[in-house]
Amino acid sequence: MKWFVLQFLLCSFSFAINPMLDVGILQGQKKVSIGAKYGFQVFNLDANKKKIFTRWNATPIKIRLTQRGFGFLKKVDYHRIYIKPFKRQNIVVNGKPYRGTIEIFEDKFGKLTIVNKVDIESYLYSVIKAEMLITSPIEALKAQAVVARTYAMKNIDKFRDAYGFGLTADVRSQVYAGVSSEHPLAIKVVDNTRGLVITYKKELISTYYHSACGGSTLDSRHWLGKKVEFLKSKSCKWCNAYKNYKWELDIPYEKLKNLLRLDGKKLKNIDNLQVKNSQDGRLKTLIVNHSSGKISLSGAKLRKLMGPSTMRSTMAFQQESSSVKITNPDESAIMDILSRFSKPSNSRVLSLKGQGFGHGVGLCQWGAKGLAKQKKSFKQILQYYYSDVDIVKTYY
Ligand SMILES: [Zn+2]
Repeated sequence: MKWFVLQFLLCSFSFAINPMLDVGILQGQKKVSIGAKYGFQVFNLDANKKKIFTRWNATPIKIRLTQRGFGFLKKVDYHRIYIKPFKRQNIVVNGKPYRGTIEIFEDKFGKLTIVNKVDIESYLYSVIKAEMLITSPIEALKAQAVVARTYAMKNIDKFRDAYGFGLTADVRSQVYAGVSSEHPLAIKVVDNTRGLVITYKKELISTYYHSACGGSTLDSRHWLGKKVEFLKSKSCKWCNAYKNYKWELDIPYEKLKNLLRLDGKKLKNIDNLQVKNSQDGRLKTLIVNHSSGKISLSGAKLRKLMGPSTMRSTMAFQQESSSVKITNPDESAIMDILSRFSKPSNSRVLSLKGQGFGHGVGLCQWGAKGLAKQKKSFKQILQYYYSDVDIVKTYY
């Protein structure tokens, strides 16, 4: 207990209580429906939080844009309101229930933004299922809960300047859909790790994670271009249980040429491609020799060009292209004639064979599941993938 208190006092980001988040759940709306089981109260945030309306029953109200703001009562327009349900019931927005309260304001384009004000622990109940398979071992889910809490706390104001709320409800932050995406196991792992976050030298870390590293995680220098002490390469032999662990990809020269041109590179025809792998097996560099020079691409850049779901990771090797084996001399002659009519540069491909899925930095989720199956605790899992970090309790 004393250790936690000491850590708490030393942390520069400390929160005395479970912090509140404001998550933008809808943007650019013309209308929205709001309800709650036992009704709710509405406060005008433009006028000293003055109470402007009380709904005593479960019938929802429809809020619509008007010419001078938005409203739900005749001849009254608002620009920013706050809605609090009675008896701490869920608030229902367009039919979807949320914990906490709701704020609605007019954005700079004159449309409605709907923000859910919710404490971080309740928020996490909804987030875990979208970030990791809920059937994963419990210690892996707990590790994911600590990662998600650390992320939310570190990015608590990420979108405030741009949109007027802290976090989005989609992949730009973490996928959040309120009560409908909660799960009893998610609630259990969040409660069991309440207040725990990951720190390095008393600061919250950037919790990079990915699906499957493919054999070893990627050092931050090869991803972010800078050294981050807690993001070092770690060997990982547990993520090969992932069913799509191995993949193959053919990249036509012609396609690569077009993608490079779209990316602003000047080239006419690709003569040949050279793949260089680093010691840990990652595709380090792709050298593109073309008619008027050469272009050097990092593995990460190549993956970005191809699309992260197409080239599933940078743990990839060049495969020898399947050559046509000709044993019959007559066939050989036919092939020779055919090849004179074909356009070799149009049909050539770079064949890659790869492992894993994701950028490879930080926590490997499938690796975490494997470690959990080997009876490792969530703390051991986190402290394996994030080097020299502490797991710290920020509130009770
Ligand atoms: Zn792994």
